[in-house]
Amino acid sequence: MSIKCIFCDIVRGVEKAYTLYRSNGILVILDKYPVSKGHLLVLSEDHYESVHEAPPEVTAKVWLTASALARIFRVNLKAPGVNIITNSGATAGQEIYHFHVHVIPRWEPLRRFWSNRHTLTEEEAREVIDTIKDHTILIDEYLQALGL
Ligand SMILES: [Zn+2]
Repeated sequence: MSIKCIFCDIVRGVEKAYTLYRSNGILVILDKYPVSKGHLLVLSEDHYESVHEAPPEVTAKVWLTASALARIFRVNLKAPGVNIITNSGATAGQEIYHFHVHVIPRWEPLRRFWSNRHTLTEEEAREVIDTIKDHTILIDEYLQALGL
């Protein structure tokens, strides 16, 4: 891509991000400005503007990965709730034009969707990765189950 894209830079390793999982053309990173502890972003390594532009197989892999992460939060880590969301277009609040899906565990009752947004610290990032990393095998199991 000739355009400047922060997520493409992360994929290439030019820009730093805390990475939880990388395989099958999928990257899972910690949101730099999480709204809850464990707020993750699932993105495709290839650049597509948003969900409306990504081909079906890429869309399936990203959403299946997000779904596996939701299960990890709800079942393995006992989060009482989780949101999975993508924004397509500025009207919907999209800010980074590289297809990505937010996975947001909710540890407390939701009041306003994007409230409590704060800057991710090294300490918080390490804690999140240490808590989740041993469970990411479920992502591979989900993708394999559909032959992706
Ligand atoms: Zn990109």
